[in-house]
Amino acid sequence: MRKPISAAICAGLLALSIGVSHASLLMKPTYNADLDYQSQMFSGNYNEALTHPDTILGFPIGQRVATPVQINQLIQTWETQTDRLHVIEYAKSHEGRPLHAVFISSPKNLAKMDEILAKLDALSDPRKTSDTQASQIIEELPAIAWMAYSIHGNETSGSDAALTSIYHYAASDDPKVKQMLEDMIIVIDPIMNPDGRDRFAKSLEQYRGTAPNVDDQSLLHRGDWPYGRTNHYFFDLNRDFFYLTQPETKGRVSLINKWRPQLMIDGHEMGPQDTYLMGPPRQPLNFNIASSVQKWAKTFSVEQGAAFDEKGWRYYTGEWFENWYPGYSNYAEYRGSMHILYEQSRMAEDGVRRPEGTIQTYKESVHHQFVSTMANLESLHKYSKEMYQDYWSDRKSILKKDSQYANKTYVVLANNNQTRMNTLVEKLQAQDIEVYVADKSFQAKDASNHLGKTQTTTIPKGSLIIPNRQPEARLLSAIMEFDAQLLPATVQQERQKLLREGQSIMYDTSAWNLTMMYGLEALTLPTNVTDDISRYSANNAAKVSATADAIAWAVNGDDDASVAFAARLMERGVQVRVIDKASQLGQETLVRGSVVVTITDNPSKANLIALINETAAETSLSIQNIKTGYGTGDMPEWGGEHFALLSQPQIAIISQTGISSNDVGVTWWSLDTHLGIRHSQLDSSTISRTDLRRYNVIIMPNSRSISDTTIDTIKSWVEQGGTLITHEGSTQAIASKDFSKVKLLDDILDDSEKYDIALQRRLLAQEPLGDMKDYFAMTVQEDVDYPWDDAPKRLSKEDLEKRNAWQKLFMPAGAMVSGNVDTQHWLTFGTSKTLPLLYGRQPVLIVPENAQAVVTVGVYADKKQETKSKDDDDEDKTKAIGWYTLPKDKELHVRMSGLLWPEAAQRIANSAYLTRESVGNGQIIMFSGEPIFRGATLGTNRLLLNAVVFGPGMGTRPNIEL
Ligand SMILES: [Zn+2]
Repeated sequence: MRKPISAAICAGLLALSIGVSHASLLMKPTYNADLDYQSQMFSGNYNEALTHPDTILGFPIGQRVATPVQINQLIQTWETQTDRLHVIEYAKSHEGRPLHAVFISSPKNLAKMDEILAKLDALSDPRKTSDTQASQIIEELPAIAWMAYSIHGNETSGSDAALTSIYHYAASDDPKVKQMLEDMIIVIDPIMNPDGRDRFAKSLEQYRGTAPNVDDQSLLHRGDWPYGRTNHYFFDLNRDFFYLTQPETKGRVSLINKWRPQLMIDGHEMGPQDTYLMGPPRQPLNFNIASSVQKWAKTFSVEQGAAFDEKGWRYYTGEWFENWYPGYSNYAEYRGSMHILYEQSRMAEDGVRRPEGTIQTYKESVHHQFVSTMANLESLHKYSKEMYQDYWSDRKSILKKDSQYANKTYVVLANNNQTRMNTLVEKLQAQDIEVYVADKSFQAKDASNHLGKTQTTTIPKGSLIIPNRQPEARLLSAIMEFDAQLLPATVQQERQKLLREGQSIMYDTSAWNLTMMYGLEALTLPTNVTDDISRYSANNAAKVSATADAIAWAVNGDDDASVAFAARLMERGVQVRVIDKASQLGQETLVRGSVVVTITDNPSKANLIALINETAAETSLSIQNIKTGYGTGDMPEWGGEHFALLSQPQIAIISQTGISSNDVGVTWWSLDTHLGIRHSQLDSSTISRTDLRRYNVIIMPNSRSISDTTIDTIKSWVEQGGTLITHEGSTQAIASKDFSKVKLLDDILDDSEKYDIALQRRLLAQEPLGDMKDYFAMTVQEDVDYPWDDAPKRLSKEDLEKRNAWQKLFMPAGAMVSGNVDTQHWLTFGTSKTLPLLYGRQPVLIVPENAQAVVTVGVYADKKQETKSKDDDDEDKTKAIGWYTLPKDKELHVRMSGLLWPEAAQRIANSAYLTRESVGNGQIIMFSGEPIFRGATLGTNRLLLNAVVFGPGMGTRPNIEL
């Protein structure tokens, strides 16, 4: 038993907030009684063999934010002091900090973890377990809880409560706790994002003065760019649970999936003036979450609320908390875990003054999280057996022949992009999803594609086959179904909220399925495919190496790794080419985008073949050994214009104030992950004083504002030959200036016909020739077609402005739309004709005739005859939709997935997602959105990689160094 620390000592310690050694130079703050939190967190007897947390921390737990180092120190100390603990290091963060799962249970349970895991496995798969066996297993299994805290590094109270919880359950002599540990395994993941917490702890240290600070607007409370929420690469780890791009998530998910916890909690913080939110969520709820899971969430929440009532603490459930997007920590719900979110109002340290005049202290926040933890664990102790029974029943119902998942199969069509296909399979297998491969090609009836078209299709051999009838059907469906469902009432509520307040009830993107995110062509089949398929196994076929008898060497440009191959060889001083038109050189077929190294470009590289083979090994690519430069038939030869010489990219990313840290981070991550080449980050506020001649590629990530001085500096750099790549807000800034020929929709409404004609010109270029006779008449023809011939009366500027303002209200928050890809452009190497684009509230770009619209929104298709009605003349007419007209025989597919209101679809149709234009000796490449979102939009990420690596060689005037 430890004596409670007296309030006087607490107050004394508060005065010592700043480093003790210099405290004597500063004046002591005045005493503030409101900051003394009197309630005690620990009650009862504790085993004295375990060091009390206050001893190691040097302050009463909950008074200050424990640093990652202190947290590890406590865990490691306690592990040696009791046989109730078993600690697993499940990952290391990017910055090398360990992530621990602390297992707390009776020594008896901890001794038979493998046996327990085997039982959990058996209970998860009714294909190999009978009802009798399942009953036996349920009888024997301990309850399993996974309690995780502070995934957002600046939401600190969770981790301090985790320390409190570990100590409590590892050291308490209370018979109730002892009984719980006989019956349960409690896993505590105390610090889910150590890099973010460390950054925030450092800023707390930096901004601390002599006195405690209760102003939630102060730097002490808020921190500074890039803030503590995210990890090293500024990723929000609580969106990464199925994209699995970060080491923290990969290691964590692997261990959670192994342990299949019945209860998962995730301890966060929210706005500082809020109270406390505990599950369950409100609508929209993802349809793939089992109803039994939702039922239990309600039961647990009621009991958690009762624990708060007892203390007189305010709280709420639902309100803003919905559960539609499956990439939060609640991904585990789809696998059968029950999940509860904790959101404590944010305290940073010390406390926060509230409008009521009171101060809520940090220590009280920690106490809230601790009491929630205890309440939920006690509920689990009570209901574990019933929950296992529900889990087993649900597993069985999923696999029944008439379940909603039984007759559905996802197909990813075979292609040459092995790197991206492997990534997809890796993500699915990490979730225990079973993936197969088609052993031969077959006909599939009623196959639906990404555009929503259903037809009979041939599935080529080698395509991935993923039947939905399998134990992890719910998660599989949540991350692979093309469109997540919503209740009509939810759609109505969302529309009302938009119209009344211009706000949304949705918390995240409304589209996320992996094949669209990855830009891989996929189908959904309405059958359970079982014939002529075999389990996927990684392709371990030996790669072909470069040989000395060739005159040139190439890698396949469809594979994303080919871009890294080019970039890494250039960094090694090798001259590299890329072909922008497919060719056949002797035995070797080269697709467009293939990267080629020739012997003649590299006369003095003695170790050329070794460098090629080393780079091929790093990128897992096979080499094509080319023996002749002569193109078969009319195909390009190796000395012609289609074998373009590249320039080594020297890259800078503009960073810091005003720039989105998420977009800086993910762009940086993409270069480090997909290319592994050097770049510099530059401070946005000092660009005009930076020598930009060192770089030939500058990336301006999404930003709130870019100063005119910065734009002017960058403009002259582009004119000298630079390649400028801009995302979203930076694109908006550039497109609103004369710097770019590409315009914002808002700025062209008084001159819309000009842009419509530019659009028609691009569309007509894709049309078939028609009758040859029309083009070879000997006389002047009276009836030559002009694109504006059938145009109805154009909308006036006033009408367009009215429509535009109205449509803006309905812009999406992350829907998937179809991108129409210019497949002759070098920016689109490795990309198919139709590319899904994740589209949000981003600038709508309109492209004039003297700039290139590389990817536009909307894919045209011929209108089906049967949809025309003879009585309705309107159907045969070209229609004015906005600034553009819709040709009479065409329909335009825009929405692919998610919530895209018809008003927004009209507004963004035919606008550009990706543009390119020459400026002086250089070029501007603009993305209307963020090409790499959460590390998961691999389809549009390829466009970015192409821009960065091929840009200086393909799109700018080469500089010959004498
Ligand atoms: Zn959070």
